[in-house]
Amino acid sequence: MNKEEYIATAEESLFHVYNRFPVVFEKGNGVHIYDTDGKEYLDFASGIGVMAFGYNDGEYKQALMDQIDKITHTSNLYYHPPMISAAKKLCQVSGMDKVFFTNSGAEAIEGAIKTAKKYAYLRDGFAGHEIIAMEHSFHGRTVGSLSVTGTEHYREPFLPLMDGVRFANFNDLDSVKAQITDKTCAIIMETVQGEGGLYPAEADFLQGVRDLCDAHDILLILDEIQCGMGRTGYMFAWQKYGVKPDIMTCAKALGAGVPVGAFALTDRVAEHSLVPGDHGTTYGGNPLVCAAVDKTLDMMENRHITDHVKELTPYFEKALDGLVAKYDFMTGRRGMGLMQGIVIDARIPVGSIVTKALEAGLIVLSAGGNVLRLLPPLVIEKEDIDHMVEILTGVCDIIS
Ligand SMILES: *Cc1c(COP(=O)(O)O)cnc(C)c1O
Repeated sequence: MNKEEYIATAEESLFHVYNRFPVVFEKGNGVHIYDTDGKEYLDFASGIGVMAFGYNDGEYKQALMDQIDKITHTSNLYYHPPMISAAKKLCQVSGMDKVFFTNSGAEAIEGAIKTAKKYAYLRDGFAGHEIIAMEHSFHGRTVGSLSVTGTEHYREPFLPLMDGVRFANFNDLDSVKAQITDKTCAIIMETVQGEGGLYPAEADFLQGVRDLCDAHDILLILDEIQCGMGRTGYMFAWQKYGVKPDIMTCAKALGAGVPVGAFALTDRVAEHSLVPGDHGTTYGGNPLVCAAVDKTLDMMENRHITDHVKELTPYFEKALDGLVAKYDFMTGRRGMGLMQGIVIDARIPVGSIVTKALEAGLIVLSAGGNVLRLLPPLVIEKEDIDHMVEILTGVCDIIS
């Protein structure tokens, strides 16, 4: 099939819930991905922050193939070595005490919400607790995770969603205080807002929220699904701030290319919340995905990924600041580590830049309506950044 035939066939059978770009990807290698016509693209999106090691990594592939030879699924009624090893490592790198594996980010959020509700239920002896979430947050598309997602138009067609969610403004401690009631059981936020437009939490704000949580026995849920797993130069972005959550959610790069998420919690919460019978998943944390998590955590450590990201960040930021200085329609840069966004003036639709970059062989993303979002594989080198700047410069010269 040629590209047009692939796309026509796809649209015959796939529920049209995405406006996909007219490209059919077939394979990848390193930081490059190739379409069915053999065209090469430099990938600064990494499958929305998933492909931390890029594509076709030999060590990663071998670990998955070895696991396929043994067993790919057993159900959560039994133990298996990959899950045991992956859970132990995830606790070690996060400093959290207990882990529950899920199939996605949204399911990790669901588990975190249920855990917080059960914690408050056991403490107070009644249900009906509330959660404070942030405006412009993104936590997923399931009914529970959508309920705490701070974009009105994502939620509106599906109302009523989960009851008892109050929204505060990110980086505005007073607005959080104003939403606290005697029923508040959790405050949920991304440590660095991703989809909402690449807003890192301010240090005072995050510490202030932590203090509020401690004062009122409210659980702090930090969503590290996009900003975690080395992306910011820290295994988890909250480690940079030294503000530890009670519950943390993780997904995207957790398995570096297989569908897996997790929520991790402290013993204090684990011992006073969900018990057998309260929660479950058929696939979640199966041997195949846990072998991927286990190998991902090994590779992050052995390849010193957080050091690499820390080292590369100033170069990346300088390159992006150079673009911002050069083009009038770029008004600023925000982000942390290899999670960066360029703010685009309202005159130019971000989508047009993303589309033109794709045509020119560079994959980038958008966020928050007017931000060009870059989430490259964590293994990029300086020359990949130079190449990205070169392609983007070509695209911007035409636009401006
Ligand atoms: C992507 C994302 C999610 C949802 O993850 P899915 O795997 O798509 O369900 C939740 N929170 C954040 C911060 C994300 O970036």
